[in-house]
Amino acid sequence: MTSAADPSRIDAETGPATPTATPTLSGVPLRTAKPSPRASAQADGRPDRRKRRPSSAEAGVRVPEEGPGRFEIAPGSTGSTGAGQLVTYTVEVEVGVPLAARKAAGIVDATLTDPRGWTAGDTRALQRVAGDADVRVLLATPGTTDALCAPLDTGGRLSCRNGGLVVLNAWRWVNGAATYDDLDDYRRYLVNHEFGHALGNDHEYCPNPGDPAPVMVQQTKSLEGCRPNPWPFP
Ligand SMILES: [Zn+2]
Repeated sequence: MTSAADPSRIDAETGPATPTATPTLSGVPLRTAKPSPRASAQADGRPDRRKRRPSSAEAGVRVPEEGPGRFEIAPGSTGSTGAGQLVTYTVEVEVGVPLAARKAAGIVDATLTDPRGWTAGDTRALQRVAGDADVRVLLATPGTTDALCAPLDTGGRLSCRNGGLVVLNAWRWVNGAATYDDLDDYRRYLVNHEFGHALGNDHEYCPNPGDPAPVMVQQTKSLEGCRPNPWPFP
């Protein structure tokens, strides 16, 4: 792996490139966030081929490697949670991925509105909508993840945030990572970490071995001696 492709070297300030054009897929322009805090991207995680036996809902289902790049948006909307600037988001599942959009939205909503989540900072209010959002949370096939995260190298197994897109690799969603025994907690981590980028947060490091890892540590790759922690405000 070259240094340019090493996800640990990609962040808001030192990434290999800042996307200057609206990302497109199959010729269909994708909406970008209105008040995108930063036109940058982060890739997270490394390929993990360890066999896992997760127990969460929809765990271990087979995710196709490629998809059409079209997404089903979870219907309905939530109320606003938290104080401060309102940031709206959608939850969308790529067509062909055997995950229910409504169920995925429930997990994302519960994670983002948890008292230990980003709204605890009292700087952002979060609300899920069914279209025209600031941030799109996408559960995508590995192939589409790679396309949407480019020029970042997500290698089919990573997730990223790219502009107003929070691209969660559906393979990770159902298989988790070696650093987490609990797939539900891993999903919470994945949502909070990538959404944290969309809110303008950069990567952090484990402060002291044995501490809970800050959520902006790239916990898919390594806990750096910390304990797994999916929450911004644990
Ligand atoms: Zn990251």
